[in-house]
Amino acid sequence: MSGSKYLRWILLACVVTVLACDRDKDAAQGQSAPPVTPADTSLPTLSFPPDSGGVPAFDANRAMQYVKEIVALGPRPIGSANHKKVEDYITGHLKGDSVEDDAFVADTVEGKFPVRNIIAKFPGNKDGIIVIASHYDTNYPLRNTSFIGANDGAATSALLLEFANQLRGSKREGYSVWLLWTDAEEAMKSWSDSDSLYGTRHLAQKWQQDGTAKRIKAFLLTDMLGDADLDIDRDMNSTQWVESVVYEAATRLGYQSHFFAHSNAISDDHLPFMRIAVPCADIIDIDYGYNNVFHHTVQDTVDKLSTKSLEISGTVVLETVRILDKMEPLPPK
Ligand SMILES: [Zn+2]
Repeated sequence: MSGSKYLRWILLACVVTVLACDRDKDAAQGQSAPPVTPADTSLPTLSFPPDSGGVPAFDANRAMQYVKEIVALGPRPIGSANHKKVEDYITGHLKGDSVEDDAFVADTVEGKFPVRNIIAKFPGNKDGIIVIASHYDTNYPLRNTSFIGANDGAATSALLLEFANQLRGSKREGYSVWLLWTDAEEAMKSWSDSDSLYGTRHLAQKWQQDGTAKRIKAFLLTDMLGDADLDIDRDMNSTQWVESVVYEAATRLGYQSHFFAHSNAISDDHLPFMRIAVPCADIIDIDYGYNNVFHHTVQDTVDKLSTKSLEISGTVVLETVRILDKMEPLPPK
């Protein structure tokens, strides 16, 4: 995602929710980047279902093993042999599942490249879809370095593989869940609206045209969630009621201290879906190392991650799905 994420939103944070208001204390540090208008600052009254009291099943050790196996493939930028290997790695773990591709050739600022979004579908008995997404490509400008994106790409791609383990087997009591490994999230040269999010811009257009977008109840984007020092900001570029469901899930599991101490405005794979009115939450820890020093550097390695952070992230996402399944009614789009 983009480097303009450090925008702080003292005023909007206060308007949106008292949750964020008094905690947004570094909002006044004088960021010079131009303001971005948040797509949705309204917060409807939400009626949450009773707390089930249980913790969703999630094997964080297995997820960490997946992270290690993915980074062992090496740098995985689009167009590379290693990119093909990670595609095969992901689909190899989805044998027997209902898997679809959204494959196309992207015309990028560095030329034409094959791009492949991978979608695994787990049907439910309720009408509607919850999408959980993570990008799996690694940063293209760093392609000739040892950058392996342990946190930026591998960690949440591994989370989704473990979600698949938990979802397969029987029809869900709830919405259908689609796991989406997105491709070509990273900028090829430097981040802009036209140089970034190649995969999700294509998929959002396709899903708008074929009617899928209307059926999506929530789009949960995961990114950089393996950081051992896990601190996830409330994203003001997301749909605020979906963010609030994530916070409710974190609170139910006792993990709320890792969530929403600050607000931020993130440019990431959710934006193409926000633009077509799909309710989204970008769940991302953009503070990776002191002053984000590990982000997009060769220091983004497995030793900076923790199994506990994968467990927190994984269970909170699954609890979010569990709450969404039972929320009646969901807020209007
Ligand atoms: Zn990145």
